[in-house]
Amino acid sequence: MSRCEVLLEKVCSLRDFMVRVLCDLVAIPTVVPPGEHYLDCCTYLRDLLRDMGLSVEVIEVPREYVPEEYRDYPRYIVYARSSRDPIIHFNGHYDVVPPGGGWVVTDPFKPKVMNGKVYGRGAVDMKGGIAAIVGAVKALLESGIEDYTGFELSFTPDEEIGGRAGAGYLVKSGRVRSRFCIVAEPSGLNQVWIGHKGLVWFEVTVIGKSAHGSTPWLGVNAFECMVELVHRLLREYRPLVESRVTRFETIPPEGRRATAMFGGVVRGGVKVNVVPDTCSFTVDRRVIPEESIDDVKHEFTEFVLKVAKELKCDVKVKILEEMKPCIVSESSRLLTALKNVAKYAIGVEPKETLCIGGLDMRYFIEAGIDTLTYGPGPTEAAHRPDEYIVIESMVKAAQVYAALCTRGELLQ
Ligand SMILES: [Zn+2]
Repeated sequence: MSRCEVLLEKVCSLRDFMVRVLCDLVAIPTVVPPGEHYLDCCTYLRDLLRDMGLSVEVIEVPREYVPEEYRDYPRYIVYARSSRDPIIHFNGHYDVVPPGGGWVVTDPFKPKVMNGKVYGRGAVDMKGGIAAIVGAVKALLESGIEDYTGFELSFTPDEEIGGRAGAGYLVKSGRVRSRFCIVAEPSGLNQVWIGHKGLVWFEVTVIGKSAHGSTPWLGVNAFECMVELVHRLLREYRPLVESRVTRFETIPPEGRRATAMFGGVVRGGVKVNVVPDTCSFTVDRRVIPEESIDDVKHEFTEFVLKVAKELKCDVKVKILEEMKPCIVSESSRLLTALKNVAKYAIGVEPKETLCIGGLDMRYFIEAGIDTLTYGPGPTEAAHRPDEYIVIESMVKAAQVYAALCTRGELLQ
């Protein structure tokens, strides 16, 4: 057997170890918002990696990076590296979304192993990806291969709320030394996310004038203005947005369009017999890599202000959130390497797609690091009741990660 085959066998033999690590992680309810039990999770991962012989630190994130409303919940990052100079970085986020209702198979934070799957909140998004990284590294270190490709690992918080205090801070701190990075989010093994769409969240507030319900002619009805405005947005602005289609593939294919979704939050009025003096609605605008986020902001705001002027109503546009789209460089060497390695290690040729949601990979790409998102699935089990990961997928992802560090493809 070649040394790489030995390594792949070794990863397979760590299947139970990875399942145990995943179950331990799921049992720590690292829910965001607000960001609970982060230190418990980081301490667990630190001890695990230290026992494997890596140099590990737990970094406390400066408070100014933590969103205002969660300042009482400190943020931590686990950072580890091999003794060799790091060439490739493996990243995973350890925070999870709240469990919500509808769980049948098990309680969200009581992991259950059944039919080749592990169930629990965070199983696939993405504590399974973390367990795969840990399994790959353990196999690498225990297999006695000496000339492996140097690596770094980071486990970061807050991805589910934008990642500024997680991967964002890690990259900004200058600690990442690698030229390449794999984010182990659940793309599933058949696809590799080469980038993702961006977003801008707007809040539009229409301002009118209050009056008694019996004398509506004395007021300016903000609700009625808002209805007119939204009509124009639906008839004129949305078709314009949806005419834009990215050249990259997405799963499902409908995701290739830029989109604008209205009314996620609508507020206004105080009482049946009071003319509403304010009404507001939100817009979730998803941005394709071919669009510039500044153009998107400008275009929307100009449109709203123009229509408001025609309607003779007073309107304010506020930007609640924004995230740039990102795409890996066309000449990504990591992409070539990953495709070769996946084919060799698990017999899969992952399809290159654009992720419809946001990912932490943009922080690494913005720092000039050749980055892809590739991890165990299934994608569609994320953020749902009875979230699960397929154990086989986790083991195979670990095989690909381990093989990436031994095949020498990244060193050429
Ligand atoms: Zn995730």
